[in-house]
Amino acid sequence: MTLEERLQKWAQTLYQKEIADCDSQELYYAILNVTKDLMAEKSVIGGEKKVYYISAEFLIGKLLSNNLINLQVYGEMEQILASKGKSLAEIEEAEPEPSLGNGGLGRLAACFLDSIASLGLPGDGIGLNYHFGLFKQVFQDNLQTAEKNEWIEKQSWLTRTDTSYTVMFGKNKVKSRLYDIDVVGYEKGINKLHLFDIESVDESIVEEGIDFDKTEIAKNLTLFLYPDDSDEAGHLLRIYQQYFMVSNGAQLILEELESKGYDLHQMNEHAVIQINDTHPTMVIPELIRILAQDKGFTMEEAIEVVSKTCAYTNHTILAEALEKWPLAYLEKVVPQLVPVIKELDKRVRAKYTDEKVQIIDGNERVHMAHIDIHYGFSVNGVAAIHTEILKETELNAFYSIYPAKFNNKTNGITFRRWLLSCNKELTALLEEKIGSGFKKDAAQLEKLLEYKDDEATLDAIAAIKREKKEALASYIQEKEGVELNPDSIFDIQVKRLHEYKRQQMNALYIIHKYLEIKKGKIPKRPITFIFGAKAAPAYVIAQDIIHLILVLQEIVNKDPDVAPHMKVVMVENYNVSYAEKLIPACDISEQISLASKEASGTGNMKFMLNGAVTLGTSDGANVEIHELVGDDNIYIFGEKSDAVIAHYANADYKSRKYYRNSKVIKEAVDFIVGEQAMAVGHKENLERLYKELLNKDWFMTLLDLRDYIKVKDRAFKDYEDRAKWKRMSLVNIAKAGFFSSDRTIAEYNEDIWKLK
Ligand SMILES: *Cc1c(COP(=O)(O)O)cnc(C)c1O
Repeated sequence: MTLEERLQKWAQTLYQKEIADCDSQELYYAILNVTKDLMAEKSVIGGEKKVYYISAEFLIGKLLSNNLINLQVYGEMEQILASKGKSLAEIEEAEPEPSLGNGGLGRLAACFLDSIASLGLPGDGIGLNYHFGLFKQVFQDNLQTAEKNEWIEKQSWLTRTDTSYTVMFGKNKVKSRLYDIDVVGYEKGINKLHLFDIESVDESIVEEGIDFDKTEIAKNLTLFLYPDDSDEAGHLLRIYQQYFMVSNGAQLILEELESKGYDLHQMNEHAVIQINDTHPTMVIPELIRILAQDKGFTMEEAIEVVSKTCAYTNHTILAEALEKWPLAYLEKVVPQLVPVIKELDKRVRAKYTDEKVQIIDGNERVHMAHIDIHYGFSVNGVAAIHTEILKETELNAFYSIYPAKFNNKTNGITFRRWLLSCNKELTALLEEKIGSGFKKDAAQLEKLLEYKDDEATLDAIAAIKREKKEALASYIQEKEGVELNPDSIFDIQVKRLHEYKRQQMNALYIIHKYLEIKKGKIPKRPITFIFGAKAAPAYVIAQDIIHLILVLQEIVNKDPDVAPHMKVVMVENYNVSYAEKLIPACDISEQISLASKEASGTGNMKFMLNGAVTLGTSDGANVEIHELVGDDNIYIFGEKSDAVIAHYANADYKSRKYYRNSKVIKEAVDFIVGEQAMAVGHKENLERLYKELLNKDWFMTLLDLRDYIKVKDRAFKDYEDRAKWKRMSLVNIAKAGFFSSDRTIAEYNEDIWKLK
């Protein structure tokens, strides 16, 4: 059957209509089914050894466009539709975005699944099927509110399977149900994303916003990703979810190995389990428990083979983000794991006296990362500087014991989504200039450097940027009701809201700029400041920062003296689909985390690939971007990580000192609680944020503010040297090849997984 016949068939089956008579929604479902059929006909990627990537998050984004691209039928589908007067891009808007992740870590997992399949490697994802995902962000009265994010429809990428396991929480039993999503590689076969669910989940228990009874496990287990954990019930629910994920994962893995006839004593030769951050850590004691209890292994044998099978990826050095569960909580939720964890702890204590490396600490808290490091064979950081900091400071005691386990795998992004799909215009131009080899071998993007001084190419790239800015402006006009000037500089900071990422520093710059314009210092070209960020509902200061940005948006955009020269917009419910529209339209990519705090970042890579220039600190993968593009093609500012780490060690950073010593800083900070802001915003939020900045400022906003203002102003000035800027843009695209997740995955495979 031709593609058109397939589409016709589904339009008929579902709606008894011709293609031309279907609306976008109907066509979306028809194409969804065609695509699922095409994937079902592909062979599953096989091999002697398989990787299982376990992750609490898979921020996969919409799948239609990417699946069509990877199946190599996007162009044909687009033509068929065009011939019936339909636009595939419009149809794509009808797809709901699965809300199975939070930010970078979940998006990384999604990019990895794409690259694993695209390299033809056998590898499945294992996670949970959260019905309402993270949450949907809605702004009301300049504040974030949270609603449930419904994304599962009757017809979706999920396929219900016959697989169901029993999961025991102590004596309580729940039955799982597995749903699969096919992951198709670029011109390759199929892997699976396995998402576990329970059938007894009850969506109706969600009340106002995202509140629900956290104790009814059989009803709430798979409702939300990261339910509020500001109370004990919330903590327990997270442990329930984590154990549910790994118990199902362990059963699935063992069942697959046994069904292929493998001896579980050699499971490490046929399976490798990549533990994405500490959320899946319990898979280690769970596998040990099953092998020892049900499969006739001695404890010794079970520990040995599981330790040779599991590998751990660390994503953060923020102490508060490293999970430490009270042993008492584990006793309540998964008593059957506690003897195993105690045994693992006992073995560590027998060998090492250093308290820093123990699994159960003096306060009876279980350090999940410590289980991973002792009982896994690999520990990797996610950017060069991050891995160095792990080795030298945060995990130094472990590095001394196990130097060979530590390795770096600098993160990457899938170019299929972050170039081929989201920027078809740039992809076409690149193909015309350097051929299509870069689609499979991202390093070939360097060929573009030959055009570094070619005016026609530079202009063509700039024209695409301008086109993308216009498209974004009209989307934002429609969605947010804010009018943007596509001739202005688009300065964009989109990422989770966190103090270490320092959106508040960007906000202080905006206040500074606003005050300058009020004084008559008009910028050469208007500037548009764009934000997008969700804040964890229980993270109070993060909510306050969102509030400040929304207050600034109202003040700036309504001020007739200022609005022609600058605009501020915070887009609502930032997600992958929004990212795909924002990133190609960006001129300046804001990557301004406090040095040492951003493990890698992947947003920075997406922006670079789409020709934005980075304004950033020497943090995470910014350091590697800097090395690749050189001093002339990036704007680096701020204290370096050594200096920051020393400030923490000496406890000598006092934000008030910076406030007192600089009129510019004082003016900007005072504005937060000044008359104008108070008139638009809420006293409580603004005052709390103001006090936080003056009394604590744990992530050292004021430390870097002056340098930030200086370097940012220089970037805006340089933008007027259009020839120079266009060259910077081209160099960034040309040097982005290193950040393909195909490269990252090839390294994981070479050094850790050893598949094939
Ligand atoms: C890439 C991505 C992130 C990660 O952004 P960082 O700047 O690396 O923190 C978060 N959310 C979405 C939707 C993304 O696409």
